[in-house]
Amino acid sequence: MKKTLILLVLISFCGGTTDTGPVTIEDTPVEDSEVTSESQNENEKEVAESKKTSNEDTTVADEETSDENTAVSANKILWGATDAKPEVYAAADVSQATIDLTVEWVNKAIGYWGSYGPLEIWIVGTGKDEVIALDEKWCEVRSTKDPNWNKEWDCANGDPYGSGDGWSPFYRYINDGGAAVSSYISDHLGYYFNALIMSSKYPGPEEEDYKPVILHEYFHVYQHGNLSIPELPDTDGDWRTSNRNVYFNGGEVQVPFLMEGGAEYMAQYWYSKETGVDAGYLKRVMEYKAEAIKPYFNTGKSLRELGYDEEFNSYDILTWFVAYLVHNTSEETFRVNFWTQIEDLGFEEAFKTNFGKSADDMIAEFDTWVAQPIDVLLEIIP
Ligand SMILES: [Zn+2]
Repeated sequence: MKKTLILLVLISFCGGTTDTGPVTIEDTPVEDSEVTSESQNENEKEVAESKKTSNEDTTVADEETSDENTAVSANKILWGATDAKPEVYAAADVSQATIDLTVEWVNKAIGYWGSYGPLEIWIVGTGKDEVIALDEKWCEVRSTKDPNWNKEWDCANGDPYGSGDGWSPFYRYINDGGAAVSSYISDHLGYYFNALIMSSKYPGPEEEDYKPVILHEYFHVYQHGNLSIPELPDTDGDWRTSNRNVYFNGGEVQVPFLMEGGAEYMAQYWYSKETGVDAGYLKRVMEYKAEAIKPYFNTGKSLRELGYDEEFNSYDILTWFVAYLVHNTSEETFRVNFWTQIEDLGFEEAFKTNFGKSADDMIAEFDTWVAQPIDVLLEIIP
């Protein structure tokens, strides 16, 4: 069992929005060729220096018991709402225009939903030498910020680019593309952070999808930021049973459900309101996503059991579910009230409090509703 998988845990892995399936969570072997690591002229750029002081909403501040002990100091690691600006690291073959575009849309997301972090943005290009240099930069940043960082397993190791037997944080993106957010908030870490990773395809920066995908990824940062409970040390070797996944999904197996459905609907909804986006955008996106309705019914599974690797794009039907929740309540009920109450109430109770019935009852209601003709469904889409 590779330790790296365990670390990549609390992750919301994402494919693109409309034209890619979800990226699966595994060390996909990459075939082909030699590993040369030389040029280290990484295109690093700090958007602004991070001033890591003024966080409200830090995790578990217990002021009165601030006696020496290390458990207490671990609780003071910053997480959640922050004034600190994201840091940006890009491979040397990523253009300044792409960096600027990425930062612009992360900043839009921050403007919509608030600033959460600490956040690092990592942008992968297409070149192997350049991505290897980025792997090295990752290790340097990690080791500098966290003396406890496990350089043996959680920096690039083995031969991921050649034999495929090995791992690095970025190797799969040069071939597979996609985007992801990994949230590193675990008791054994000395520095908590979110890594928002963008690549150069599926979608590429020249595609319109690149922008809502950034919003989608940032919504994951927001989701994770609202749960400040660190992951407990791994006990059974199964990352899916982490306590954070239980909070988010109300079950013991990590599923996309409201993590992905929420991120995707919020991304598309807010993107559709941007200047220059045409009035029919959201209906068009949702009509496309309606193609998932039939295959969803064919699975016979509950929405909350759909995995990342279904034969259809499970994100699409989950996005419809969130559209339905928002229609029945409000965007703010979903985005603000529900997500900010999960930590205190737990998933099931927060769901019931905000949407008026249990998640299972709501899914049953949705299943009846979503079986109607597409024209009827689209009436709820703004
Ligand atoms: Zn996602």
